[in-house]
Amino acid sequence: MVLLIEWGLYSYAKMLYRCGEEWTGRRVLSPDVGEHRMKYVDIDANDQNLIDEAVSVIKRNYSDPRHTVGAAVLCSSGQVYTGVNIESCGYGPCAEPIAIGSAISQGERDIVSIVAVGVSEDSYFVMSPCGNCRQLLYDYAPDCMVIIPHDDSVVKIRARELIPDAFSNF
Ligand SMILES: [Zn+2]
Repeated sequence: MVLLIEWGLYSYAKMLYRCGEEWTGRRVLSPDVGEHRMKYVDIDANDQNLIDEAVSVIKRNYSDPRHTVGAAVLCSSGQVYTGVNIESCGYGPCAEPIAIGSAISQGERDIVSIVAVGVSEDSYFVMSPCGNCRQLLYDYAPDCMVIIPHDDSVVKIRARELIPDAFSNF
């Protein structure tokens, strides 16, 4: 009887271990899978202008907790479009989709670069896009440059690099 219970516990533990192996993917991934090097690029004067536009839109529209982030999008036409987040009790879109939507509404389809800026007291800081916005950028502008904070400085990186092995239906 004791042996039977022990055997039962052993089988159960073995089953759990196997599930764990499958969930972590240890059975299917080779050891070098997961290598992903980010290619950060220094920002230039155009990027600084875009940051200034994002600061300007949130400066004009700041209203905590509704509007606390500003975004600016540069399109290949040379035109810049801006937007602020619209927080709500349900899903409140980030500033990036508002700015991208504004660009698309004006007929733009080619986004060159984007930045989002947050506010802390009286200072403004470049923000990294959230996971949802990374997917949005991947779907609409995978090759655009995203201006982000990195190691106490501000750099830019291609949108597709922010979401490796991305899912996409487009
Ligand atoms: Zn977002």
